[in-house]
Amino acid sequence: NKIEELTELDKKHFLHPTSPIGQQQKEGPSFIFTEGNGVFLTDMKGNKLIDGMSSLWNVNIGHGREEISEVAKEQMKKLAFSSCFATFSNEPAIRLAAKLAEIAPGDLSTTFFTSGGSESNDTAYKLARHYWVLKGKPNKQKIISRTKSYHGVSMGATSATGLKPFRDFTTSIAPDFHYVDHFSTKSLRSLIEQEGPETVAAFIAEPVQGAGGVHIASDGYFQEVREICDEYDILFITDEVITGFGRTGTYFGIDHYGVTPDMMCFAKGVTSGYAQLGGVMISETLHKEFKELSTGTLLHGYTYSGHAMACAVALKNIEIIERENLVENAAVMGQEMLQGFQSLQEKHSMIGEVRALGLMGAVEIVKDKQTNERFESPLAPQVVNEAAKRGLILRSVVFDGQDTLVFAPPLIMTKEDITSLISILDETFTSVTKDAVK
Ligand code: PLP
Repeated sequence: NKIEELTELDKKHFLHPTSPIGQQQKEGPSFIFTEGNGVFLTDMKGNKLIDGMSSLWNVNIGHGREEISEVAKEQMKKLAFSSCFATFSNEPAIRLAAKLAEIAPGDLSTTFFTSGGSESNDTAYKLARHYWVLKGKPNKQKIISRTKSYHGVSMGATSATGLKPFRDFTTSIAPDFHYVDHFSTKSLRSLIEQEGPETVAAFIAEPVQGAGGVHIASDGYFQEVREICDEYDILFITDEVITGFGRTGTYFGIDHYGVTPDMMCFAKGVTSGYAQLGGVMISETLHKEFKELSTGTLLHGYTYSGHAMACAVALKNIEIIERENLVENAAVMGQEMLQGFQSLQEKHSMIGEVRALGLMGAVEIVKDKQTNERFESPLAPQVVNEAAKRGLILRSVVFDGQDTLVFAPPLIMTKEDITSLISILDETFTSVTKDAVK
């Protein structure tokens, strides 16, 4: 039958991203998805699951939007792609850049387009270093990031990723990347002092750390970061690849802190995954200086920078986010989700700390709530498997001794959807607890 055929072909020919290679070769895909509708995904066997991760933190407006497919089709018929190199341009890219300037924090008003998050981060590092060259300070080239951070998998992005297994995977990383304690501004200040501010180009951080376990910065953290960067003349870059476009209940994650970065990387939610697109926004000040000081060519650009169809899709996606008040909905439903986690925390002995900002949340699994002691081997992967059997897609994080479930459902979640998510999680914990105490 078709499922068996596809399973065999997948095992033989498809090397999956971020996958357990051995297991994949033996067992093949666990789900072959065929359809998406709102917050649900359906697979070939007819299983219907709540997409509790918006797939990869990105399908913010939910699956199966016909409006988007119409726009993509119309733009493809008219002009799918034309180069944006040098002085060439196209209308969707121009209009999207203008729209982004309207919604982005502070004076971020100019966009360099890419095809995704990793490319956006690499672009930001290169633009930061180039900026210091233009300013006559070519020694300012070091990039500082945080220990639990995830910035992607291209060489620069991997090098900036604080989670060590990602760097170790490639055995050798780019030079001039440094890491500071995830939660402490003191650690940032002392590293800058130690390395010498005249050697540091930029500091990059996710406003809410995602793939490393959904860690929310304390109040005041980013205000202090901004002050430190100003004091030492270092560019402050936010990686809004997950937190952009409503995810945390504000348009961008950094909006919670009321500060403006010098550059802001985005991807994922800009198109809700309907097309591949990312970018870096730079402040008006930076743009002005680039224009005034540049004499040569900006020697950085991707074939798909400013892809017409992808930009048209992004414009429609943003229109939907605004028309349906999805930023506000994420804030309200995020509170519902957090309350649901708290009620499960009271009921289940295995649930430790719970947290959420908008529709980005985490539930920690502990052996002992009082001492925060963990199970010898993490249980989160098992909870993820059991939840999937019951119709809910989640993700586990086991880096750095963590045993954490992370959540990022679509921003269209209703109260009923949250109730279903929490009730599946409840059943799952009941079943896993029984197994764990056996
Ligand atoms: N930055 C952050 C914060 C991310 O979460 C991700 C991907 O999950 C990336 C960058 C990399 O984006 P991409 O996978 O589109 O290259």
